[in-house]
Amino acid sequence: AEVLTPAFFGAWIEEAARSVRAERDELTRLDAAIGDADHGTNLDRGFTEAVRALGERCPATPGAVLVLVGSTLIRKVGGASGPLYGTAFREAGKALGDAPAVSAADLAAALTAGVAGVRRLGSAAEGDKTMVDALAPAAGALAEAVREGRGLDDALGAASAAAAAGAAATIPMPARKGRASYLGPRSVGHQDPGATSAALILRALHTVAAR
Ligand code: ADP
Ligand code: MG
Ligand code: MG
Repeated sequence: AEVLTPAFFGAWIEEAARSVRAERDELTRLDAAIGDADHGTNLDRGFTEAVRALGERCPATPGAVLVLVGSTLIRKVGGASGPLYGTAFREAGKALGDAPAVSAADLAAALTAGVAGVRRLGSAAEGDKTMVDALAPAAGALAEAVREGRGLDDALGAASAAAAAGAAATIPMPARKGRASYLGPRSVGHQDPGATSAALILRALHTVAAR
């Protein structure tokens, strides 16, 4: 069923912005350990702007919502994560095309396209201690749940759980991409900030679907 409207995607971004704001200091603390202590403030600035842009432009399709969010994140977040998250949302939005509403299967395909965009741009594989470690399992879990015919709430619960587990699994990894890779083995023992924020964004998607 074509159930997911532009309003649903807008509510997701609002919830993600709330969650990033609430966890801003924790994200920055994680980035202080293995990076440059700006991930929380970078993302808070970007998602706040994304909510503002959606309020001003009110895109008419789910695809246009996600493309606008991606473009805003690219302009406002900066650093490594801005272009990466921006590409994820833009690619996901492009995958949704110009349909006025989309299905859970469309959303799963869009998330997969978003992750592919991140991989292409950042050339990180799973296990490199990046946001890919949360995003890739989430996309896989969502696709599998949709194939099994599970409901949206349930399917996004599985995706959110997979993202959280993927973020936690970065703790023992040495970083092989991004700023944290400069630390080599000294990055072991810290959870990756980008994987942590990716899990927050996926959790926000589940929260909105469960309403
Ligand atoms: P910066 O490192 O430029 O300060 P942020 O602190 O906002 O940018 O984001 C850091 C996060 O970006 C990392 O925790 C990691 O998850 C992600 N990241 C960095 N480089 C890559 C990459 N090549 N591929 C995927 N994710 C990456
Ligand atoms: Mg940083
Ligand atoms: Mg930085």
